[in-house]
Amino acid sequence: MARRRLVYEGKAKILYEGPEPDTLIQHFKDDATAGNGEKHAIFDGKGVLNNRISEHVMLGLNAIGVPTHFIKRLNMREQLIRAVEMIPVEIVVRNVAAGSLSKRLGIEEGTPLPRPIIEFYFKDDKLGDPMVTEEHILAFNWATQQDMDDMIALALRVNDFLSGLFLGVGIRLVDFKIEAGRVWEDDFQRIVVADEISPDSCRLWDVKTGKKLDKDVFRRDLGDLADTYTEVATRLGILPAGGGAGESGPKLVH
Ligand code: UDP
Repeated sequence: MARRRLVYEGKAKILYEGPEPDTLIQHFKDDATAGNGEKHAIFDGKGVLNNRISEHVMLGLNAIGVPTHFIKRLNMREQLIRAVEMIPVEIVVRNVAAGSLSKRLGIEEGTPLPRPIIEFYFKDDKLGDPMVTEEHILAFNWATQQDMDDMIALALRVNDFLSGLFLGVGIRLVDFKIEAGRVWEDDFQRIVVADEISPDSCRLWDVKTGKKLDKDVFRRDLGDLADTYTEVATRLGILPAGGGAGESGPKLVH
């Protein structure tokens, strides 16, 4: 393939210029990081799995009318997406106490929350993605009031969709993070779900056993991330039972 122009390289993904104006190619790497990059490892096949899982989720969202940047998957590691103007905020939705919420407020992990709670974090690695409020977002002009209302509505719709999708395969959606961007259609601007939705950005627990099926397996040294994400993909029906990421036919023996 012709050499493509690299637009941005992040911790787990690379963006390349797309084939048409206003498109990009999103490439999923095998890298896993935690603690704002302090912890790093590579899991063979993780990028392939996240590409497939994120495709599955984005297609589902598109099918129920939740707009996303996703256009189509191109190959095992890449998908074609719409170029959007990213809003520099991470939107976290929580259904069950875990992670930083449990730590900050002293609520035991696993405690169901009385209602979904939405939080915002300013995307800035140097600052460690600090938590911010709607006041900061509006005052510093990271988003308008209309953007905020749209982002909250979007986040709650994604929460309902994901909760049902995962519950159907015996998985409890504890919390997740999404990112949003602006697209223009003629003179009309709207907010769409961008980035990825995968076990890197969700907390997923087995309904019966509570077993962790997400990036906490890496954060807390509980096992192999590729095996864990293979289980999620298999349950979602994306991979045949017992199948791996399927990138290169026979599984590599290390
Ligand atoms: N999350 C994420 N990227 C981040 C921070 C958080 O995808 O940079 C996700 C994380 O996987 C979890 C949710 O957002 O599903 C809430 O994370 P939390 O605030 O509890 O932070 P953590 O415990 O991961 O530090």
